[in-house]
Amino acid sequence: MFEGKELKPFEKKVYLASPTMHGEELKYMTEAYNTNWMSTVGENINEVERLAAKQAGVKYAVALCNCTSALHLCVKFAGERLYGKPAVSHGSLEGKRVFCSDMTFGATLNPVVYEGGIPVFIDTERESWNMDPVALEKAFELYPDVKLVVCAELYGFPGRIDLIREICHKHGALLIEDAAEAMGAYLNGQPCGSFGDYAAVSYNGNKIITGSSGGCLLTNDLEVANKARKWSTQAREAAPWYQHEEVGYNYRMSNVIAGVIRGQYPYLGAHIAQKKAIYERYKEGLKDLPVQMNPITEGTVPNYWLSALIIEPDYMCKQVRDDSTALYIKGKGKTCPTEILEKISALNAEGRPIWKPMHMQPMYRMHECVGRDGSIRAKTNAYIAGGVKDVGADIFARGCCLPSDNKMTPEEQDRIIEVIRRCFE
Ligand SMILES: *Cc1c(COP(=O)(O)O)cnc(C)c1O
Repeated sequence: MFEGKELKPFEKKVYLASPTMHGEELKYMTEAYNTNWMSTVGENINEVERLAAKQAGVKYAVALCNCTSALHLCVKFAGERLYGKPAVSHGSLEGKRVFCSDMTFGATLNPVVYEGGIPVFIDTERESWNMDPVALEKAFELYPDVKLVVCAELYGFPGRIDLIREICHKHGALLIEDAAEAMGAYLNGQPCGSFGDYAAVSYNGNKIITGSSGGCLLTNDLEVANKARKWSTQAREAAPWYQHEEVGYNYRMSNVIAGVIRGQYPYLGAHIAQKKAIYERYKEGLKDLPVQMNPITEGTVPNYWLSALIIEPDYMCKQVRDDSTALYIKGKGKTCPTEILEKISALNAEGRPIWKPMHMQPMYRMHECVGRDGSIRAKTNAYIAGGVKDVGADIFARGCCLPSDNKMTPEEQDRIIEVIRRCFE
């Protein structure tokens, strides 16, 4: 339908994933205003906690200012449970190794570092683009003393979080599930956010539903829920004055923000349906190209948050990246994420590279990353981008996220598909 036509840029930018409001958000925000519950207490917060726990099928949800703070409290609690209470100025994981997802957003594991832990990365499984359970097993063989695993679900497409959980428990380790991207997704009929001993979800502006910011800690363990409530509100003791026995944080959710989230929850299903339609339209439109979309592994029901593709190795043109720039040399019938993202951007739309694996990040360059063959790359120095051994580096080199905004029209999406198709000419 676009045969030979010049593809004009959109007048209005098509985003990767932007907030989609429905009206009820304003009602609950206004309620907070009119009743003067303009702080970190109120009906909206109670309701968000009820809805978040219900969605994930867990007993307790604690509403916090974002998902990163929820993960921090999960990590801190796990650290104290495993290793005891540290000295006041020390992290609860001081000097301890923690197995972490490698191909994810840095916020998944930043809290491990806040608590003094040492992330050891676990390579990505090719079939699911999520943490590789085989590599995790190998990591436990190398370091049987490790007691904590932090695992994120990528782009709302759960991998084998069920196996990850089994492996953790077999080795007596606790699992923290970073379900920031996966709210509303399921594996074997079980909701994401319920696999970890402790889990976190996000209401950041680009997530499947949003409060502009916000997050919840999820758990079946009353003790961690109570601790999270206390720590997130400056850790006051029960006393007539400000009495402190431990370090506090100011991490609680605002009742105004909670109003936005409360208004969004009824639309979670509708947002997932829109994201699914977007994914399927890409899949159909790109089906005869040498690309693969996010894998949907057996037993999983994704929330389709971000559509992404990877290019078959034989159709990759030469692409080089350093720490801040990317260059490519166009070849006939070949392309690369850098070109696709450039062309999408020229259309006034927004794509993004796949999360750059943590073991490739300058700050973690000397950290270990365990592959499914049991190799520890930081020690063997066997970084081979595009090679078979380093799955994360390979997916990063060949993959990109596509505009996945649920307000994108089919016509707009068709133009994006056409732009991608032309990259393979
Ligand atoms: C968005 C995101 C976070 C952080 O969420 P915030 O609410 O912005 O703190 C953490 N982990 C993953 C995987 C994310 O995508």
